[in-house]
Amino acid sequence: MPRKVSVVVPVYNEEANLPRLLPRLVPVLEGLGRPWEVVFVDDGSRDRSLELLKAAVAERPGRVKAVELLRNAGQHMAIMAAFGETDGEYVITLDADLQNPPEEIPKLVGKLDEGFDVVGTIRSKRRDSLFRRAASRIVNRTTGLLTGMRLNDYGCMLRGYHRDVVDVMTASDEVSTFIPALAQLYARRPVEIDVAHEERAEGESKYSLLRLVRLNFDLMTGFSLVPLQLFGPLGFVTALFGVGFGIYLLVRRLVVGSEVEGVFTLFALAFMVMGVIMAGVGMVGEYVGRIYQQVRGRPRFLVRLVHGGRREP
Ligand code: UDP
Ligand code: MG
Repeated sequence: MPRKVSVVVPVYNEEANLPRLLPRLVPVLEGLGRPWEVVFVDDGSRDRSLELLKAAVAERPGRVKAVELLRNAGQHMAIMAAFGETDGEYVITLDADLQNPPEEIPKLVGKLDEGFDVVGTIRSKRRDSLFRRAASRIVNRTTGLLTGMRLNDYGCMLRGYHRDVVDVMTASDEVSTFIPALAQLYARRPVEIDVAHEERAEGESKYSLLRLVRLNFDLMTGFSLVPLQLFGPLGFVTALFGVGFGIYLLVRRLVVGSEVEGVFTLFALAFMVMGVIMAGVGMVGEYVGRIYQQVRGRPRFLVRLVHGGRREP
């Protein structure tokens, strides 16, 4: 029996893209010659996305499901919610905006068949704005450095996972997480392949600059303590410098007499050190805030209904 493929698609205000997605996705999945299902998650859309998804479920009962979230939980939590509704041996994630061509899915399935349990992807010719690409490059580099994970392209969400990896990911219960990094953590045999990338078909990116920054902090704080630990040595070096400076001033006072000039240099130094301290406090805040969110133990996402699924009334 060939292994079943579950495709997970997070949807947030994608009414313009949904009518084009399934007509491209379904033939690809049919072409695999094995059982398949598509699990959409409506991540609290305020447009007609949910209606369109319900229609898609009605059109292909048993094949298409739609998890309806009560409110927006963010792309990664939405995917987590959908993971819980999948039952395929292989799970593929895909964006709804057609930036990840569905035609690449057979490649991913092929790699999973070869025995790799996490198939990562690198967007060979990325079609995003220059700014977005530059930001991603910085993030990919620093994250690689901080976490020690060797992943070339964290941002590409067209990925394939073996059931075992999906199960540990859903069991992880992390509130602010980043799925590709989490998968990398649990992978026994990861592999990366090149995939095509297209421009967003319709609409605009759902990530504002602020949301992107927050997501990148999720990635950093979730998978590394280095940003936090950096401030220890930094403080130590600053303190050493301060002591050296003090000794110099003392000696100077004894030899040349007390000084009055250079007050503004001192200001500059003081501001610099204060800046570093504030950055450090901010960094601690990033961790503490996430710890607070986690310990409150509120549900990570709220499922209202699963259309076409077991929980439907
Ligand atoms: N998405 C989501 N919830 C959100 C934001 C985005 O489910 O809060 C979905 C969105 O509908 C799309 C995917 O996540 O299918 C990627 O989002 P987007 O294309 O806006 O991100 P970008 O390609 O700019 O990184
Ligand atoms: Mg996109």
